[in-house]
Amino acid sequence: MFSKIIQRRTLGALCSNLKASMSSAGPAATAKPDEEVLTSEYVFEREARYGAHNYHPLPVALERGKGVYVWDVEGRRYFDFLSAYSAVNQGHCHPKIVSALKSQADKLTLTSRAFYNDVLGEYEEYVTKLFNYNKVLPMNTGVEGGETACKLARKWAYTVKGIPKYKAQIIFAAGNFWGRTMSAISSSTDPSSYEGFGPFMPGFKIIPYNDLPALERSLQDPNVAAFMVEPIQGEAGVIVPDEGYLTEVKRLCSAYNVLFIADEVQTGLARTGKMLAVDHENVHPDIVVLGKALSGGVYPVSAVLCDDEVMLTIKPGEHGSTYGGNPLACRVAIASLEVIEEENLAENARVMGELLRTELTNNSPEIVTNVRGKGLLNAIVIKQTQECDAWKVCLRLRDNGLLAKPTHGDIIRFAPPLTISEEEMQECVEIILKTLHSF
Ligand code: PLP
Repeated sequence: MFSKIIQRRTLGALCSNLKASMSSAGPAATAKPDEEVLTSEYVFEREARYGAHNYHPLPVALERGKGVYVWDVEGRRYFDFLSAYSAVNQGHCHPKIVSALKSQADKLTLTSRAFYNDVLGEYEEYVTKLFNYNKVLPMNTGVEGGETACKLARKWAYTVKGIPKYKAQIIFAAGNFWGRTMSAISSSTDPSSYEGFGPFMPGFKIIPYNDLPALERSLQDPNVAAFMVEPIQGEAGVIVPDEGYLTEVKRLCSAYNVLFIADEVQTGLARTGKMLAVDHENVHPDIVVLGKALSGGVYPVSAVLCDDEVMLTIKPGEHGSTYGGNPLACRVAIASLEVIEEENLAENARVMGELLRTELTNNSPEIVTNVRGKGLLNAIVIKQTQECDAWKVCLRLRDNGLLAKPTHGDIIRFAPPLTISEEEMQECVEIILKTLHSF
């Protein structure tokens, strides 16, 4: 115990540079009763020392969450305006989802798919009826969902469409993000994703986003199996395509007998003001990939939905995952989807999103050059000067009690839990505007 305290002191001393970036002007901190209480500095330093440096987190060390709020280890409270990249749509530690997790955890957690379990079928029936597809293939993370969709597209290409063996092409849009596996980075146009990690997956082609003539040109190739696209590009900085884009994508893909894969991992599950972002145009893709909020942020759960013509091309043993479809995940997913429906989160996201964009559009200072988004998936673009950039704005937002994360240097995403009330949103608008006007 004593050595642990000493070690913490040593580590604490090593991180005075990190300490400097924590402002003393933040919300009131709870007093630390003794040396053994974790400090933010200690948390930063321990991660830096023992963990891979594959992220650049905003310096804030969180230990608790409830609804739209998170608290750091010193007891400071913040509005969460990232929602774990839209995984926590239902709010932190939603009681119904946590209760489903706890009661199933006491009963049965994992059987693998070597055996049947009593929850998987119930979940499969619920999720397929909800989204109107014949079948679901359960996985864990979003990127595994994308991998699954690509494998389904290739298998369908060879066994149904008749593309010559191993000639299948999948088209992606520039600026896409669907994770960090070898396949995902092979379709990326972001050097920080792919640089240094080649050789890359063959059979992938990239066209500009929101460019229908480019899509139609690429579809002339008879070996194209699928076009995989985000209805709104999240990680690229909340890029909303022109109205009618998704309708035309669907029409073109159907006309050329190419599968339309909608990556709804970030945009889906009420985030943009509809259950799926494609619902804004009443479009029914051939394959839908879901993840993130499918578990309300308590457990990794993803899913691929499609009809039998595509899904049944994959036979026993050809794809799967030890954890995919486990009873714990299925109970959590059912509860998470029920919360979205019962609490009318899509409608709240629509209304609160409009409020946020209207306030920011009308009242932001000149350093904000663009406000955009749909529902509660939003972004502002910051004019970079010596004094001001997106990172500095996020640090000052943190000091004022709101957490958001920059993307691409000049963009800040605003994506709070969809449970946010009007009163809370008004308070957040005040914090954001006060912060922006302070530059
Ligand atoms: N697809 C989209 C659109 C995403 O935004 C992400 C993650 O941000 C993924 C897929 C990958 O999800 P995961 O990080 O759970 O693998």
